[in-house]
Amino acid sequence: MIPFAAADRTQYLENLTTKKVHILVIGGGITGAGILLDAVNRGFETALIEKKDFASGTSSRSTKLIHGGLRYLKQAQFSLVKETGKERKIVYNNAKHLVERNKMILPFYKGGTLGAWTTSIALWLYDRLARVGKNEHKMMLKKQTTMRIEPLLNTEGLKGAGLYYEYKVDDTRLTLEIIKKAVESGGVALNYTEAIGYLYEDGKISGVKVLDVLSNTTYEIQADYVVNASGPWSDQVAMLEHKPESLKRIVLSKGVHIVVPFHRLPLKQPVYFENRSDKRMIFAIPHWEYTYIGTTDTAYSMDMDHPLANKEEVSYLVKSLSQVFPKAHISENDVHSTWAGIRPLVYEKGKTLAELSRKDEVFKSTSGLISIAGGKLTGYRKMAERVVELILAEFKSQENKTSPVLHEEALTDLSNVSGSEFKSDDDFRKLKSYCNSLCTHLQVDERVMEKVFHRYGTNTEQVVALAETFTDQVEDPYLRLELGGLLYGIRQEMVCTLSDYLIRRTNQLYFGRDQIKKFLIPVLDLLASELGLDETRKSKNLEDFMKEYDSVMQWQNEKTL
Ligand code: FAD
Repeated sequence: MIPFAAADRTQYLENLTTKKVHILVIGGGITGAGILLDAVNRGFETALIEKKDFASGTSSRSTKLIHGGLRYLKQAQFSLVKETGKERKIVYNNAKHLVERNKMILPFYKGGTLGAWTTSIALWLYDRLARVGKNEHKMMLKKQTTMRIEPLLNTEGLKGAGLYYEYKVDDTRLTLEIIKKAVESGGVALNYTEAIGYLYEDGKISGVKVLDVLSNTTYEIQADYVVNASGPWSDQVAMLEHKPESLKRIVLSKGVHIVVPFHRLPLKQPVYFENRSDKRMIFAIPHWEYTYIGTTDTAYSMDMDHPLANKEEVSYLVKSLSQVFPKAHISENDVHSTWAGIRPLVYEKGKTLAELSRKDEVFKSTSGLISIAGGKLTGYRKMAERVVELILAEFKSQENKTSPVLHEEALTDLSNVSGSEFKSDDDFRKLKSYCNSLCTHLQVDERVMEKVFHRYGTNTEQVVALAETFTDQVEDPYLRLELGGLLYGIRQEMVCTLSDYLIRRTNQLYFGRDQIKKFLIPVLDLLASELGLDETRKSKNLEDFMKEYDSVMQWQNEKTL
């Protein structure tokens, strides 16, 4: 059992106020999660606080690719491509249940930016920089082969395509499984705990004032080091300092994705294509019963807590699809769901959004606040390493700190995330086929069981065991499985609200929005009884979730100009 139950959350928080931790991390996205795991692995007593739910910020709103970022070659960001390219193999090995290897088609057209030579050279360079294994090296395809491989592509002006490999990941669960692993190894992670100010000793930061958002109670947590890993909120969190240093380190850029049913855009594999008008590159990626398409890249300065797709962005993506997949006749009516994320980009004077690097940077304020900004989901492990190694170096040079047990190396490249405790690929395949074989006994279809396995990995059996506890009370086998997942979420994944479960733990708001209502009430009832919610809090849970449910299609209410 992981000590990560929603019922014990207040206890974990109160325990934190009775001691001084070595490191306190602000922000429960992928960056904070990576730092927590790295620090815990090195023997630092470390805690993480997140003001909403884990991964509720940008880390649940990406394109969900673990990649070197082919497009960064155009900006000559070779070191970024090299580092993230190498990292993707590590993430794949450590989070096998969440990462899927896919062939990606990169078609090129007459009049487009890319041609056969440029595509070939770019992919060749990518393979070398990212140290792509020989079995995954790029291939160049002639027009006829491209059409055979992806029959939905527009054939007019098509000249051929490049084929390379990309890794798709469940970004939200990757963040969560890293946090679970860190908690299993002794770290503490609390959602709905907001940093609202700092504590100081001799002008140096010595902790954080926090607000328990669920109970509206404030606490103080003492720490030797405080790390600001709050992504798009980095500047705001840095400005909580009593003498804030005037800064503008972050530039925000919004990226939108749309989701259409797979049968409306039944791609045989992901496609990375160019919008003919503005030459931006866009992904179309099949995912279970859906295909998602994105992204956009526009300056953003509005509500950071609730970024939403607007009509213009949805229509831009739909139009881009119609250029490349005209036979599919996709219209705005096909859009099933959307999401919008905010990229925290490191500010560089005189550069446009598109030109800004996706690299990360670490800053330290005069009072000792360490902030990390920028970066990519893929590079989280190296980002964490840079932050914790900075702290490690300082720790070793200072005698007045509480004594840590230190390991020079975090060895996170060898740490499987929770749910991925497979000894080998064979072990992975065996468990997958065992889980699939349970579908007859559980009376659910194989595809549903496969999804459950890819969600929970080696923890699937715990979910199934919890589902079975409903055998006598609940007739519908699919509902039993859903309730099993919910119980597991509440007891092992810090699910505190309906939205935590339906949006972050299971992604149903984006991939399955039309089916959510089927089990909404039994799910809410179980959540309320497990968490001891009174009628007011139960209704509030439903109301908050329904707001989010409606918000992803809010763009439909905007009037066309
Ligand atoms: P976040 O995930 O935003 O986490 C910061 C957290 O801090 C938030 O959860 C927030 O609630 C919390 N917080 C804020 N203030 C406080 C406070 N006062 N107290 C406590 N907590 C606080 N990268 C890839 O590698 N591959 C991709 O395919 C990819 N696609 C992308 C597509 C889009 C549209 C976008 C926007 C980004 C994409 N990225 C991709 C980049 C990647 O998603 C981000 O770099 C990464 O998720 C940022 O993580 P983070 O932890 O720094 O920020």
